[in-house]
Amino acid sequence: MPFSLGTAKAASGRVSYGTYRLFDQPTGGVEELPIVIAQGNPRGPTFWLTAGIHGNEHAGLQVLHQLISRELARQLHGTIVCIPALNPAGLRTMKRESYYHRGDPNRLFPDGKPNRGRDPDIDPPSVLEQAYTRLFKEIQASADYWIDLHNTWTGSVSMVFRDRVYYRDDGTAAANKAARAEADKLDQRIGEMCRAYGHSVLSEMASEAYFDDRLHRSTTGAAVNAARIPGLTMELGTGHMPDPAIVQASLVGLKNVLRWAEMLNGSPEPISGIKVVDLGYRCRRRSTPRLSVSCIVRHLVDAGDIVRKGDPIAELRDIWGRPVGEKILRSEYDGWIMGRTHGIVHHKGCEVCGMGVRDDLPTVLPYPAGYFHS
Ligand SMILES: [Zn+2]
Repeated sequence: MPFSLGTAKAASGRVSYGTYRLFDQPTGGVEELPIVIAQGNPRGPTFWLTAGIHGNEHAGLQVLHQLISRELARQLHGTIVCIPALNPAGLRTMKRESYYHRGDPNRLFPDGKPNRGRDPDIDPPSVLEQAYTRLFKEIQASADYWIDLHNTWTGSVSMVFRDRVYYRDDGTAAANKAARAEADKLDQRIGEMCRAYGHSVLSEMASEAYFDDRLHRSTTGAAVNAARIPGLTMELGTGHMPDPAIVQASLVGLKNVLRWAEMLNGSPEPISGIKVVDLGYRCRRRSTPRLSVSCIVRHLVDAGDIVRKGDPIAELRDIWGRPVGEKILRSEYDGWIMGRTHGIVHHKGCEVCGMGVRDDLPTVLPYPAGYFHS
């Protein structure tokens, strides 16, 4: 039977359009997701491409609009399932979040734990979480790969966020060994996808912060760790007003990933027009440096800059313009500047940059003890 999602039905050599029903609106009508399916030879792999789970991040929309065409469908070995706006409420209101779910919509996907029934004293999941849980089943059943498109800060570097792969080591020695081997294989595929895309790469935060911040329940966190689907989160610079150079470089990167997945013919095209930072060692993302005083900052670095520990990052002044606190905020690490966090007015404790710093932790790790029983 041909692949379908919502009202969109795949057809070989065609681009099909339709909608996926999220839930009924109390005001009448239905909340829906836009679905686009491009199919070539239906025997090839299925690649999911999604964007806009944060409603104020718009570069992914443009990338997907430019990528999907009848011409692409004709060349394709396999199927691309594309959702250009995962959070329609956020897109309407130009907000990161959705007005029918309090909190980050990119923390609502399954955590891989067994379902233990519902406590009547705990509120049921929001309509959005319920709908994403249903959508995730479709992804789990069909996706061979998944890439989710986002934006970071104004002027930030185009980056790939790579989830670490967690595996169970609470079984017999043989089961643990098999789980480790499966995780290594998945991690290797993820690494290959990163290299095929060709933009700057960062590993996600490590164990404690990853689970505390519920990143394992993000789109690609759940893809990798609950569904074992190779998945990546792409961060495409400025959100509201997409940078045309990053949009173009992402388009080229995605086609290169499709070639790597043997869904498109031809050799990889070079990535140009954007900064690609590679320090020669693996980096992870970190929110740093942080402010010891509330102040107005003047950044002394730009996105993509390579810095050494002790290098000046920002000048700090009070609202009257007088130097305040340590006066010059310095880097705590060797690394590179992913971008400057939003704005120049910050409270004590806020980070003024995102940095890529050396990642000494493995990309494959056992789940924290007791994870599946908590
Ligand atoms: Zn985002």
